[in-house]
Amino acid sequence: MQKFRIEDDLSYQDTETIRRQQQRLLHEHLAYCRKYSPYYRRILADLPEKSFRLEELPSLPLTAKSDLAQHNRDFTAVPDTEIADLCFTSGTTGHPCRITYTRQDLDRLAYNDALGFLATGMQPSDNILLTCTIDRCFIAGLAYYLGVLKVGATAVRNGLNSLESHSEIIRAGGITGIVGVPSFLAKLGQHLRDSGIDSSAIRQVICIGEPLRNREMQLTPLGEILETFWPGAVFSTYASSEMVTSFTECRQRCGGHPPADLAIVEIIGEDGQPLPPGQCGEVTVTPLQVTGMPLLRFRTGDISFQLPEKCACGRNTLRLGPILGRRAQMLKVRGTTLFPNVFFHVLDGIAGIDNYYLEVSGDALSDELDLYISFHSGDLDSLHIREALYARSRLHINLHCVSCEQARLKVFGTSRKPMRFFDLRQKQP
Ligand SMILES: [Zn+2]
Repeated sequence: MQKFRIEDDLSYQDTETIRRQQQRLLHEHLAYCRKYSPYYRRILADLPEKSFRLEELPSLPLTAKSDLAQHNRDFTAVPDTEIADLCFTSGTTGHPCRITYTRQDLDRLAYNDALGFLATGMQPSDNILLTCTIDRCFIAGLAYYLGVLKVGATAVRNGLNSLESHSEIIRAGGITGIVGVPSFLAKLGQHLRDSGIDSSAIRQVICIGEPLRNREMQLTPLGEILETFWPGAVFSTYASSEMVTSFTECRQRCGGHPPADLAIVEIIGEDGQPLPPGQCGEVTVTPLQVTGMPLLRFRTGDISFQLPEKCACGRNTLRLGPILGRRAQMLKVRGTTLFPNVFFHVLDGIAGIDNYYLEVSGDALSDELDLYISFHSGDLDSLHIREALYARSRLHINLHCVSCEQARLKVFGTSRKPMRFFDLRQKQP
């Protein structure tokens, strides 16, 4: 019998049923970790072999990315012959970090992504254009593909291709949904409009990797641009290779739901203890029903919050807000705590800006922020930009005008992904 079936989705069950099922799955997960994961067998050795209740989860140890890097091999809980897919992430030590998936984990991923896609309204009759890579150890790319198939829809794997190539496929007709990185999709939307290609048949624009909303759940400038091309069709999804679980927005488009039988989610504060809904902290996930590399209380390093109200869609699963930033990128300026995205979202909304990056320096007490901006043409209207940044952050920060060439070298110098944050702070011993 198939283990992961869409009809078994718990999302619409009452909260007590969801709790009971999560309780049972947590018990199974802990037993599996103790039995098969060399790392957790060691870590959990001193804990009593009892059944932990959900409320007792905070008494169990956290797992950081550094643990994963340092004891990498010990996290694999299956013999090599059981591994179906092997990914390498950059890791925290500079050495590639291995993440292993079994056949069952890939089935679980298909189910995970199918539930997310169904929540956006995807149907078997849809044709979904995938504009992200499926290779390069990008497990999410594979998950989207498997998810589309699990829904019963059709995948069009055009991958990391040019605007022209994607546009020609859309011009040919039949595409009803897209998955991709929002900044690229914004360029695609503009290209389609400039080329006079009708893309109104697209009812789901599923955005990965970049948040579309801010702390107040308002659209970011990037989110607003996408809305002008595809009104009411823009959805956000968030996932990571390690947690193998995603949070996808439903038709309410107000925070992402994780599948209840695949993950227990906590938002934790600096002390490692869970925070109540509404408060910002680190997203910490215990993925359930994983066999290749099971994890317990995995710290994603991403900062977000849980929306306090029950979702109008009728699901009784929690909703995760947008990712506000990385924990490591948290800024502390004169008593205010904030993330670089606050500035980046403002700059994304100002016409004429070509590129930008932020340097942060300073000691343990307060950070110094220096923002470098390049312009397509004309001069720096520093007063306008300064006011816009102040209105959003209540901070005055140092602005510097640089050439397009300098900004490009800095932002794209080291990787394909833009780097806009440079941390020059003195690290505390
Ligand atoms: Zn919902």
